[in-house]
Amino acid sequence: MKPLPKGFNILEIERKWQGKWEEAGVYHFDSKDRKRPVFSVDTPPPYPSGDFHMGNVLNWTYFDIVARFKRMREFNVYFPQGWDCHGLGIEVQVEKENDIRKREMPPDKFTKLCEALVDKYIAIMKKAVVRLGISIDWTTEYRTMNPDYWRRTQLSFILLHKKGFMYQGTHPINWCPSCETAIADAEVNYEQHEGTLHYIKFPLEGSKESLMIATTRPELIPACVAIAINPSDNRFNKYIGKNIIVPLVKRAVQIIPDETVDPEFGTGVVMICTYGDKADVKTVLHHKLKPIIILAGDGKINEKGGKYAGLTTNEAKKAIVGDLQTEGLLVKTEKIMQEIGTCDRCESLVEILELKQWFMKTRALTDKVEQTANEVVWYPDYMKTRLVDWARSLDWDWVISRQRVFGTPIPVWYCKSCGAVILAEESWVPIDPKLENPRIKQCPKCGGKAFFAERDVFDTWMDSSISCAVHAGWPDSKDWRRLFPADVHPSGIDIIRTWAYYLMVRHLALFNETPYKSCLINGMVLGADGRKMSKSLKNYVATPEVLDKYGADAARQWAAAGGATGSDIPFRWPDVEYGKRFMTKLWNASGFVSNLLNDYEPDDKAKHALQPLDKWILSKTERLTKTVTEALDKCQFNIAMEEIRNFTWHVFCDCYIEAVKDRLYKPEVYGIDKRKAAQYTLYTVLHRILQLLAPIMPHLTEEIYQTLFAEKKVFRSLHLSCWPIVNDKMIDEEAEKHGELIVAVITEIRREKSERHVPLNTPIRKLIIYTGSKDSANMLTKGKEDIAGTCKVESLEIVTKEGEGKEIASYGIRFVAKY
Ligand SMILES: [Zn+2]
Ligand SMILES: [Zn+2]
Repeated sequence: MKPLPKGFNILEIERKWQGKWEEAGVYHFDSKDRKRPVFSVDTPPPYPSGDFHMGNVLNWTYFDIVARFKRMREFNVYFPQGWDCHGLGIEVQVEKENDIRKREMPPDKFTKLCEALVDKYIAIMKKAVVRLGISIDWTTEYRTMNPDYWRRTQLSFILLHKKGFMYQGTHPINWCPSCETAIADAEVNYEQHEGTLHYIKFPLEGSKESLMIATTRPELIPACVAIAINPSDNRFNKYIGKNIIVPLVKRAVQIIPDETVDPEFGTGVVMICTYGDKADVKTVLHHKLKPIIILAGDGKINEKGGKYAGLTTNEAKKAIVGDLQTEGLLVKTEKIMQEIGTCDRCESLVEILELKQWFMKTRALTDKVEQTANEVVWYPDYMKTRLVDWARSLDWDWVISRQRVFGTPIPVWYCKSCGAVILAEESWVPIDPKLENPRIKQCPKCGGKAFFAERDVFDTWMDSSISCAVHAGWPDSKDWRRLFPADVHPSGIDIIRTWAYYLMVRHLALFNETPYKSCLINGMVLGADGRKMSKSLKNYVATPEVLDKYGADAARQWAAAGGATGSDIPFRWPDVEYGKRFMTKLWNASGFVSNLLNDYEPDDKAKHALQPLDKWILSKTERLTKTVTEALDKCQFNIAMEEIRNFTWHVFCDCYIEAVKDRLYKPEVYGIDKRKAAQYTLYTVLHRILQLLAPIMPHLTEEIYQTLFAEKKVFRSLHLSCWPIVNDKMIDEEAEKHGELIVAVITEIRREKSERHVPLNTPIRKLIIYTGSKDSANMLTKGKEDIAGTCKVESLEIVTKEGEGKEIASYGIRFVAKY
């Protein structure tokens, strides 16, 4: 065995192996290999944001541990990587960096700028993924902004359109006035916010009486379409059916009965406008009221807002409140906490508008989603309800069109004379309808010869929500079912409602089959203060800072050990420091082993000379293997990590290595066979530790493996070696009991030395151990040499009777040491 150098530079080691793994194709999926079963990871393609934050470190580490573990379990692992390019954030950033508005420049020029930014961001993030030691097969890399990927998104749209899942409609939708696009429910965040409740008098038509309403959105008064009262509210139900005059715009609307009105809230008289919130949408739909949409796409009041046209909502609010005051209609205001919806991307207040959009009929699949979610294995199990609850909570179908530039074009034209939808043929894609006409001579409906293109693009989730099929090779590979459904889909807890859900509905609609067999959920990363990590809270830690200081293997240990899978994990520097200290411990132990094994040739002949302590740690190693294997099978990374670290640090280094040093240094005393037995044990246990640690700490384990073991083992990388097969027969309870006793005795004698303030290597002239039982006496006699050697005892006597001296807790054994 070659000796290990004294110190190590983890950053150098990591760089070295990242290069060598890639060069040697260690992580390539072998499509020709039909013997091993496949294991496919549905790696979620991230939005290129240019930032690889600690949340990314957490979730990439999770699924990389799974991939590495399965690879060692002799699966043919397919671990692809793509980039979900068409994020709204890219458009926003391009506008900011270049100080332009996308509508003010030619779309193809704007797209070029977006692509350049995406390329820049991908380069940064790819570097970070590699640096973290993620075992991606980079030959699979793809970008959703390439026409070859559009082709798949467009094809899936065409197929779903033909199946009746896609439709165009004018429905209320969530609209971000800053991003100027429709957004899906999943892109709206609801939060508590302080608002002002305005109490306003609405005069009854043809009467001197008036009713008072309370609203936080007086700017929507011009969009008022009705006043609602709970029919059981005896204060006001006599007004139902009468007309009321909307202030300022002086328009009469009806007072309608509505059971959903809460008489306790505000005044019990509610203004229905189009649209203040989702409740308005429901009321308007239920009572078949005609909406008056006064907001334009840019968030300003349109011509239907009369004298307020051209104002932003905030300006309109001020103006309208002022006018109400002038007319004496504003009675009072009060502060109130209210729930508001904000844009996930830019945090602007989301409005509800009515515009013609493309939708996918997702709600029709809700029962199927629930049934399938229950069949999928969830890590942890309780996460499945998040998906089911989300699917059940959806009021609207998924709006899939976006009024943006940088996105996959919707492959549709319209006939200029009759307006018929011309859907692209499957063989036409990829196609940009803005650049090409449909490949037909005339409109199939009216014979018209002129067409105009759909200018909207797809929601970026339309690209990424077919990843399971695309990763498997759909639609080009005849063999794509081999990798479909994906064996595992990893997802953050915050994107179950998007990623896990959209994948599910898209694939169910397309193939009537689940896209993934299991779903692995990670929680959020919290700052050291326990709050969600964010730049604005000043508890943010940048990933490069962590990796530069302690390396990837220490960061990965933090991710694995930070908490139960699915729970939120705080980032604490001491956790990463502990990881680094553990690596130093492992390195030093390995160095020690390598020095003592320089004359060792692995063979099983030494087995007959195994001593009680050797048998003890070999059995404990088997037990550890079993525990770690079961934990990794269940994606319990923290349990696996803690078990290995405790074993390595406290059982292997502190106890076993200390207890066999003497045997290794003095073959003339113990005999060559017993020395060989210790060498065999060290060799076996250290190799096993490296294997068990490999999925979590891939770099350092590879470095030690390559220096110490690679010559004798046939695998070109530790990560291609086979995971140890758990053999229950190798777990020997008797040997463990025996070993524990010897270890307890050694520990107590050493403790006594430190209590006496004498160095550990001080010889003990005579040691008498009173066992009090024949059993213990027999056991200790068998371990006599290791006890005497480790504790530097010159004369050791073991007696069966009970005696005096220091007690070894819970064994009823006492000893007397004479110096
Ligand atoms: Zn926005
Ligand atoms: Zn036509």
